[in-house]
Amino acid sequence: MQQKITLLGATGSIGRSTLAVAALHPDKYRIHALAGGSRVAPLVEAAVQFRPKHVAVADESRYRELRDALDAAGLKDTEAHAGQAAVTELARDPECDAVLQAIVGAAGVAPTFAAARAGKRLMLANKESVVCGGGLLMRTVAECGATLLPVDSEHSAVFQSLAAATPAQRREARIILTASGGPFRGWKDLSGITPEMAVKHPKWNMGRKISCDSASLMNKGLEVIEAAWLFDFPESRIDVLVHPESIIHSMVEYADGAVMAELGSPDMKTPIAIAMAWPERITTGVKPLRLAECGKLTFEEADTETFPLLALARETLREGGAASLVMNAANEVAVETFLDHRISFTGLFAAVAEMTRGFTAPAPASLEEILALDAEARERTRALLASRAF
Ligand code: NAD
Ligand code: MG
Repeated sequence: MQQKITLLGATGSIGRSTLAVAALHPDKYRIHALAGGSRVAPLVEAAVQFRPKHVAVADESRYRELRDALDAAGLKDTEAHAGQAAVTELARDPECDAVLQAIVGAAGVAPTFAAARAGKRLMLANKESVVCGGGLLMRTVAECGATLLPVDSEHSAVFQSLAAATPAQRREARIILTASGGPFRGWKDLSGITPEMAVKHPKWNMGRKISCDSASLMNKGLEVIEAAWLFDFPESRIDVLVHPESIIHSMVEYADGAVMAELGSPDMKTPIAIAMAWPERITTGVKPLRLAECGKLTFEEADTETFPLLALARETLREGGAASLVMNAANEVAVETFLDHRISFTGLFAAVAEMTRGFTAPAPASLEEILALDAEARERTRALLASRAF
């Protein structure tokens, strides 16, 4: 039986890696639908290779361009769609079995909920939707019979390391999320950092937003929140350990002192394939790990004084309510503004902290409330960034 996959965020870094894995196993996976943000050319290129039934572009104004490009490529039977609602619609299409959700940012919240409500196998790279959806998302997954499989490499490692644990054993375990430390590991002075410096990650080749988050350690903060929701762990039992080689993808420590970990070459095709095949395993073409070639693996504590957003993310978990959601929205706006050269890297830290601590709201009780709060937090962040120099 072929698994019919809807791939959201198909033109991004995770999307392309997913297509590379799917291409190795045409007998097992059929790409049912492809969706992207605004770039039509790479979407149509993927459509030519995978012949999906649907292709959608989130940018409404690009419908004509998409339709014409599909026709020109000889894909007259492929249905073209445009707009955010069309992307969300594809996530609940009864004809697909699984949704690989690799949209960047809170733009992925509605599609994630749609896939969860439709009871899909939900392979989730879009960590921002877990941060925003929180307990409501986890309840929706459980109530609607969806299967949530993490794609984020750390969470994939934790998922595997927890697989054999009983509920009682889980309650006494600790999660240890590894972090590469980003391009500025060991730095004390972060003034003068340009967007070009921030998006150049030493170990992983990723989209611009997550690369910037890795440089600020906000990515690790978002991942602490993601782990807390996905695995139902309190913040106090989730540690972060800097491991620059990125060979150990994360660990779980049990009460008896045993530590389970997943190791491998740093390549997202592995966690993507784990989510696609679970509980089976499939080949990926990823370079095999040869530890003798690595020589040694090193570890250090995270520097939360120089990189305060990791500590801020923990603070939002302890605070509860909508704090994590507000922080995520403020971060998305501030990252965009920083990448646009309009604020400094340290100004980004200051703005996100000020927004997060200055705007409190109760935990949203519905998807509509999540979207409304996210929009309000973005609006307020834009106003804050316009009010003075950051
Ligand atoms: P990317 O920027 O390379 O790709 C993002 C994709 O989302 C693109 O296809 C883009 O067209 C699409 N998109 C953007 N806005 C959209 C919208 N409104 N509607 C529909 N599609 C939209 O990003 P990425 O690095 O592939 O990351 C994607 C997600 O996966 C992020 O949440 C990121 O945190 C997570 N993730 C990425 C990696 C990695 O190695 N790249 C690792 C772990 C987790
Ligand atoms: Mg990660």
